[in-house]
Amino acid sequence: MEELKKTVKVPESEQLQSVYSLKFEDLQDWLKEQGEPKFRATQIFEWLYQKRVTSFEQMSNLSKDLREKLANSFTITTLKIVTRQVSSDGTVKFLFELHDGYSIETVVMRHDYGNSVCVTTQVGCRLGCTFCASTLGGLKRNLEAGEIVAQVLESQRAMDEVEERVSSVVVMGIGEPFDNYDELVPFLKTINHEKGLNIGARHITVSTSGVVPKIYKFADEKMQINFAISLHAPTTEIRSKLMPVNRAWPLEKLMDSIRYYIETTGRRVTFEYGLFGGVNDQEEHAELLADLIKGVKCHVNLIPVNYVLERDYVRTPREQIFAFEKVLKNRGVNVTIRREQGHDIDAACGQLRAKERKEETR
Ligand code: SAH
Repeated sequence: MEELKKTVKVPESEQLQSVYSLKFEDLQDWLKEQGEPKFRATQIFEWLYQKRVTSFEQMSNLSKDLREKLANSFTITTLKIVTRQVSSDGTVKFLFELHDGYSIETVVMRHDYGNSVCVTTQVGCRLGCTFCASTLGGLKRNLEAGEIVAQVLESQRAMDEVEERVSSVVVMGIGEPFDNYDELVPFLKTINHEKGLNIGARHITVSTSGVVPKIYKFADEKMQINFAISLHAPTTEIRSKLMPVNRAWPLEKLMDSIRYYIETTGRRVTFEYGLFGGVNDQEEHAELLADLIKGVKCHVNLIPVNYVLERDYVRTPREQIFAFEKVLKNRGVNVTIRREQGHDIDAACGQLRAKERKEETR
């Protein structure tokens, strides 16, 4: 797990940096270096995020010289749609191909309160959670911030067709966002920026499996973003069996970092608790969980395990889920059971996987 602390770099490639990777302030700095006035950043953001153009050429209120400079310095990332599946409940799952041939999945969920996009942060994942499909092939590479932004833009284009807006974003697709922290933060800032996609911080959720040092760092960013932790176990012994990350940062250390997060941001957190039949889903586990989170400002989201072909976890019977929930409620815990979407197209929690087209085509 020592290895986890090293960052896998976005690969060197002939590709120019994605213009979507630049925060508003980064773009202002770049413009300044070019001897251009700051307000051009607003114009460029409008072209990128409101008009959603796909070439610098189209930015008609910029000089030809500036458009050329932009084109020589950056690329406007486009994601090639390989497949687009629509579930009976309206959930859309995209398989996108990246410039180097890898592919990733992005899911758009339709709710009565709006549309949310579930984005991917890495090609694969190295955390090795024993129940999750995204980690099966290991980690191939980190996504660049702009490649994460582009998933939201592409989803918005799909919503444009029905004249709707992407109103929220959840960072719960493939990958561990805190294992790609330096690209995650600019992504969050850009989608949140009023001149960017203007998605309110309270409509953005980041989920981590528990990369503790980054939880402290994230707390200090003081963004008013929703924060979720994949807890999945009431004791460190059970958690280590389910999630190898717990051996690097055990439950007790994780809970300390979460307390720090809550103190620093003043916000409550969400604990995701997957119910894995016979492993962590008994009433005694619910009691232990209530003990563990006693006094922690939080909400618990129970997730019935999703079937993953290569994994042999079994679903908890409905009555057992309700019994688990009841124990928590009786102990004063704020708890809900997650309603799953996109089951028929394998778009539900933990079922997304990086399809290694790069290797396939070689
Ligand atoms: N790496 C981050 C972001 C992924 S979010 C994290 O771990 O939080 C995806 C969520 O789905 C996580 O809570 C993950 O633990 C959960 N998950 C993975 N496989 C699952 C499965 N088979 N059934 C139910 N939930 C699963």
